Amino acid sequence: MDSLTAIFSMKALLPRTFWTKNINEVSSDDDRDAFYVADLGDILKKHLGWLKAFPGVTPFSAIKYNDSRTIVKTLAAIGTGFDCAGETEIQLVQSLGVPPERIIYANPCKQVSQIKYAANNGVQMITFDSEVELMKVARAHSKAKLVLRTATDDSKAVCRLSVKFGATLKTSRLLLEQAKELNIDIIGVSFHMGSGCTDPETFVPAISDACCVFDMGAEIGFNMYLLDIGGGFPGSEDIKLKFEEVTSVIHPALDKYFPSDLGYVASAFTLAVKIIAKKLVLKEQTRCDDEDESSEQTFMYYVNDGVYGSFNCILYDHKYYSSTAT
Ligand SMILES: *Cc1c(COP(=O)(O)O)cnc(C)c1O
Repeated sequence: MDSLTAIFSMKALLPRTFWTKNINEVSSDDDRDAFYVADLGDILKKHLGWLKAFPGVTPFSAIKYNDSRTIVKTLAAIGTGFDCAGETEIQLVQSLGVPPERIIYANPCKQVSQIKYAANNGVQMITFDSEVELMKVARAHSKAKLVLRTATDDSKAVCRLSVKFGATLKTSRLLLEQAKELNIDIIGVSFHMGSGCTDPETFVPAISDACCVFDMGAEIGFNMYLLDIGGGFPGSEDIKLKFEEVTSVIHPALDKYFPSDLGYVASAFTLAVKIIAKKLVLKEQTRCDDEDESSEQTFMYYVNDGVYGSFNCILYDHKYYSSTAT
């Protein structure tokens, strides 16, 4: 991918022919590499959908999915917060003028130099899930406002994260006690159901566990006010689980456990690639089930991007692409 062409308009308002014409014009040059076309209007639409579905829940965009300046700038302009995994991401977001209060350093396992970077740049909200991490923060960033990451049952998610991250309830109590002794503030709980969550019901025990940690925190003397419900939400319409199905489970759970009181960029992007080679091959060679049963042969198309480039999400996130020829 050599560049990003951003289009600020609702996809619905732009006929397919506009896209096709635009893509063809930009790619008419034979030397052109694969490139993305982003519909910033799609992101705006998601944002408005989110605000409607979860009034009072501030969305924080995870930079890891898309660190292009155009996208981050758009998200900053519409007012989301940012979920950063380290120094590079914090730097990017701050270079676009986002204030530190709208940044959470949400990587439970951190390099000490990067905790210092957060401290020097005013970023206070940091997640942690173990004693070692608590000690590192106590040493490098005494003014941090910590968020305790709890483990979830993410066995129904496509990308499981609780294998790596999250404290059990028992460990959470110990961590709260230790933080109190170290005079480090804990302001809330964060959890993640795993990306590509397939069963919204899994949010319920995660939210009730968070409520337990809030209660323990109050007992130990913390004033906790932040619940970070992580992610796992469907990001595009071709995913079986609908956003509304997730919200219909989360709402009653939040109402029950937190009575007083949350993937934007997945569908905005269209990747334009050039077909650079074509082969006629026997179907059995491709091991693919083509709908056209009558033919023994099929075409294989080769494009100028691959799994080590834009298609790495096939390997990492188990995604699939739908394609349109222009
Ligand atoms: C990846 C990640 C997110 C976003 O997750 P989605 O499932 O894509 O919504 C949010 N928070 C943290 C800490 C993450 O690692």
